[in-house]
Amino acid sequence: MLDADFFRRWMTATAAAVDREADHLTALDSPIGDADHGSNLQRGFRAVATTLEKESPDTPGAVLTLAGRQLISTVGGASGPLYGTLLRRTGKALGEAAEVGEDQLADALRAGVDAVMALGGAAPGDKTMIDALVPAVDALGDGFAAAASAATEGALATTPLQARKGRASYLGERSIGHQDPGATSSALLIAGLVEAGAN
Ligand code: ADP
Ligand code: MG
Ligand code: MG
Repeated sequence: MLDADFFRRWMTATAAAVDREADHLTALDSPIGDADHGSNLQRGFRAVATTLEKESPDTPGAVLTLAGRQLISTVGGASGPLYGTLLRRTGKALGEAAEVGEDQLADALRAGVDAVMALGGAAPGDKTMIDALVPAVDALGDGFAAAASAATEGALATTPLQARKGRASYLGERSIGHQDPGATSSALLIAGLVEAGAN
C-alpha cells in the first residue's frame, strides 16, 4: 500500500529531477516555445516541496491536492494549470484514505489525465504532455518502471509530430523535429514514482 509518505517522496523526487533537468527543459522550450518551461516548473515544484514540509498533509489525496494548488498558484505558464489540474484531480480521486493501492493510483491518475485533456483540449498525438501521460497511465498496471519507460518513449515520440495545442502550435510545420518540453517533464514526473517506490 502507498501512504502519504510515498506521495511526499514522489513530489520531492520530481522536484529534484526538475531541478536537475531545468536547463534541458528550457532548452527544449526554446525552438518551439518561449524558453521558460524549466524555470516555470522549477519555481512550481520548489514551492511544492517547501509547502509539503511546512504543512505535512497526512493522506495521499491531501498531498496531491496541496501540490496541485501550489503549481497553479506559482507557475504562470500553460503548464502550471495543467499540471496543477493533474495533481489536484488525481488527489481528489484518491479521496481521504490513509493508504491506497497501486490499482487505485492508476485509476486516479487516469482521472487526472482525463481532466488535463478536458482543460487543455489536447488529445494523444497533439505533441503535448498528454503524449507521455496517456502511455504512462496505460502501462501503470505493469508497475511504476513500465509506466516510466512508456512515458519516456512517449516523450521521445513527440519529435516527429506537428504541435496542435499550446504555443508550439503557432509554428505549424516548423514545430516538427523538436521534442516537446511538457512531454519530457511529464516523463520526469512518472519516473518520480519509481524513485518514491524504491525507498
Ligand atoms: P508556456 O507555453 O505558457 O510558456 P510552458 O513552457 O511551461 O508554458 O509549458 C509548455 C508545455 O505545456 C508544452 O510543451 C506542452 O507539453 C504543454 N501544453 C501546452 N498547451 C497544452 C494543452 N492545451 N494541453 C496539454 N498540454 C499543453
Ligand atoms: Mg514556455
Ligand atoms: Mg511561457
